[in-house]
Amino acid sequence: MNKPPKEKPRFDREICIACTMCANICPTGAIDLEIRNSGSGFRRFPVLTDGKKCIGCSACEQDCPSGAIQMVL
Ligand code: SF4
Ligand code: SF4
Repeated sequence: MNKPPKEKPRFDREICIACTMCANICPTGAIDLEIRNSGSGFRRFPVLTDGKKCIGCSACEQDCPSGAIQMVL
């Protein structure tokens, strides 16, 4: 029997304040902050470095102070 799909975080880069909370709280180390070009300069953005590591616990979504994370299938 197939496992049901897990929700994973999607990051809204427009409202993310790059606080690193999500990367720090993730129990599996699935999130990292990488330097990316935002269009108006370089800044840090959260990325899911390895989707297989994410267990879909939604801790990142719950603790994000700016509401920049949404769990999606
Ligand atoms: S916790 Fe939210 S605001 Fe902070 S880096 Fe992660 S997505 Fe951005
Ligand atoms: S849902 Fe849980 S395991 Fe997945 S990235 Fe967020 S904190 Fe990490």
